[in-house]
Amino acid sequence: MKCKKCGGRLKKFKVEVEGSDLHSEGFECVKCGELFFDEEKSRKVVADLRKREFLEELPALSIKQKVVKLSKDRLGFYFNKDIARCVNLKPGGEIEVRLLDKKRILVEVE
Ligand SMILES: [Zn+2]
Repeated sequence: MKCKKCGGRLKKFKVEVEGSDLHSEGFECVKCGELFFDEEKSRKVVADLRKREFLEELPALSIKQKVVKLSKDRLGFYFNKDIARCVNLKPGGEIEVRLLDKKRILVEVE
């Protein structure tokens, strides 16, 4: 890849963004100092930041529950009826479980 301004050689560097575990990449022209950024990777970082912001602003209908043992390696918990009603969760319905980090699991009703 060459500099779009002067045609000089580009040096890659890592762009770390506070609040996100993802990083983007940037390129600096060794000749004129112009900076370029990897748009695709930058977009992903922005999307990640938005998702985290969204999660922090979630309304707090928060209920503490005990995790129960279902079988040898499987754990489970019950959905409180108010929570199930709010998200229209019915028996046989599907949910997507996503591990966000070591302390958070996101459950999305399909
Ligand atoms: Zn240049």
